[in-house]
Amino acid sequence: MKVIFPVMGAENISVSYMVTVCKSLGHSVKVAFDRALFDDKQYFSIGFLAKLFDKKQQVIEGIIKEKPDVIALSVFSDNYQWSLDLVRRVKEKYQDFVTVWGGIHPTSVPEEVIQRDEVDFLIEGDGELPMTKLLHALENGKKFKDIPNLWFKKDGEVHPGKHVFLNDGPNFPVPDKQVFESFIPIEEYYLTVTNKGCIQKCSFCSENFKFDYESELREGPFIREKSVSAVIDELREMKQKYNLKYVDIKNNVLSGSNKWIKEFCEKYPKQVGLPFRVMVQPLQLQTDYAFLLKKANCHHVQMGIESFNPKVRKEVLLRDETTEQVIKALDNLEKAGINFSADLILGLPGESEEDLIFALKTLSPRKHLIRASIFWLQYAPKVDITNQALKQGFIGEKEEELINKGLQDNYLSTGSAMEAERKRILKTYHIMFRLLPIVPHKIMMWFLDSGVYRVFRYLPFQIAFIIAIDVFVSYVRKDYYAKWIMKWYVKQVVKNIFGRTKFISS
Ligand code: SF4
Repeated sequence: MKVIFPVMGAENISVSYMVTVCKSLGHSVKVAFDRALFDDKQYFSIGFLAKLFDKKQQVIEGIIKEKPDVIALSVFSDNYQWSLDLVRRVKEKYQDFVTVWGGIHPTSVPEEVIQRDEVDFLIEGDGELPMTKLLHALENGKKFKDIPNLWFKKDGEVHPGKHVFLNDGPNFPVPDKQVFESFIPIEEYYLTVTNKGCIQKCSFCSENFKFDYESELREGPFIREKSVSAVIDELREMKQKYNLKYVDIKNNVLSGSNKWIKEFCEKYPKQVGLPFRVMVQPLQLQTDYAFLLKKANCHHVQMGIESFNPKVRKEVLLRDETTEQVIKALDNLEKAGINFSADLILGLPGESEEDLIFALKTLSPRKHLIRASIFWLQYAPKVDITNQALKQGFIGEKEEELINKGLQDNYLSTGSAMEAERKRILKTYHIMFRLLPIVPHKIMMWFLDSGVYRVFRYLPFQIAFIIAIDVFVSYVRKDYYAKWIMKWYVKQVVKNIFGRTKFISS
C-alpha cells in the first residue's frame, strides 16, 4: 500500500518508528513535511510571519500528486486542527484514500476524534501492531473488528477499539531517518527515543493520562526501555551512516534504572563518543548521576523543575521532589560542570510573583545554566491538572471543549485561557527568565530587589523581545541545540523565499 505521513514543524520520532514498521512489511511510505514556519508548535509562534511563510497548500498538492492509499497522522493536541484541515483540503480534490489517526490526542479523546468526517480509523495507544494489521486488512479485504485498539466507522456507526495493552517497549525498532533526510540535516542533529513511559506521572503531562489509561492492563513497570546494547548499536550504526555530530535522546528521562544509566554511561563514550543531550528529573540527580553524564560526554541536560513553590509542585503538579532536592540537583549539575537548561511553567494556579522571584534568585548564580525554558500552562485533555481546574472552576465546559478540540493557545505563546493583565505580568517574568543565563548574578539581584524589572511590564511587543533575547542567549551561551534550530530556521526561511522547499520525501 502507498502510505503518506503528513508531519508539521519538526521531525516526529513516532512517525520515524511507524515508517520503519510499515516499510519492513513492504509498503511504500513517504512523509509530507510542512515546516509551518513561525507556527510550528515547537519553536516559534508568531502569527503574521506564519501567514507570510505559509506553504501548506503546496504540501497538500504534493500529497494529491502521490495518490496515497492511506494518509496516516500522528496527532497531539497542537497539530489536531492542522491535521483536520489538511485532510479536508486533500479530500476536496482527491478522495481515493483512507485516514488513520494515532497519537496522544486521539488516544485521550477518541470519541471526539472518531466522529469527524476526516477520520476513518483511529488507533489508541502504541500504534505499531494495529497499524500493520490494519494495512494488511485493507490490502486483503479482511475485517477490522479483531484489530486491537482500532476504532472505525461502518455504515455511519462507530465501532470502538478493543483496548489492549501492547507492551512492545524493549522491541521498538530503529527509527527510519531516510524519510526525513530531505527536511532535517540528520548529521547535525540525531533524534532518538530509547524508552516509553516515565518514572513519574506529573499532572500536566500526557504521561499522566497514559499512566492511568494503561494501568488496569499493564503488567510490569510504566517505563519500558530498550537494552543499552540495542541503543548503542543504533547510535553506532547511525553515526557511521550519517557522520553524526550530535545526539538528542529525547526520552522523558534517560532511564528509570540506575543500572541502565551506569551501563550506558560506561559504554557510550567508548563506542559512540558524540556529544549528547538528555532530559532528567531532579530526583535522579541526588547522587552521582550528573558526574556520570559528564564523563560520558553529555553536552546538555534538560531538567524539568516546573515550579519552585513546594505546595504547587506537590498538590497541583503531583511531583515528589522537595525544594531542597531541586536545589541539590542544581548544585550537582554545577559541581559536575555540565551545561543545563531548566524547564519552568508559567501560569500555574497557586503560584505567586514571590515564587517566580525566588526561582529567578535561585537559578541566577548557576554558571552552567544556559537556558531557562518557559512553557505556559496549557491544559491537555484528560490529565489531572485539567480535571483539577474543572473541579475548582478555573475552567468550565466551554474551555474543556476547546481543549479536546485542540483549539486553545499553544504553550509557546501564552497557553490556556488566562486574564489579559495576568498574562502581561507573567510575560515580564518570561523576559527575566530568558535573560538569566547572560545577566551577571549581582545585576540580576539588583533588578529584582529594586523592582526595576517591572518596566518590562510596559514594554510593547513583549513576545518579539523574548524571541530576540532567546536568539542572543543561544549564541552567547553556545547552546548547540538552540543554535542548530536557529540555523535550520534561517535556511528554511531562505528556501521558502526562493521557492526551493521540498515537501515530499524521496
Ligand atoms: S517527569 Fe517529565 S515526562 Fe515524566 S511525567 Fe513528569 S513531566 Fe511528564
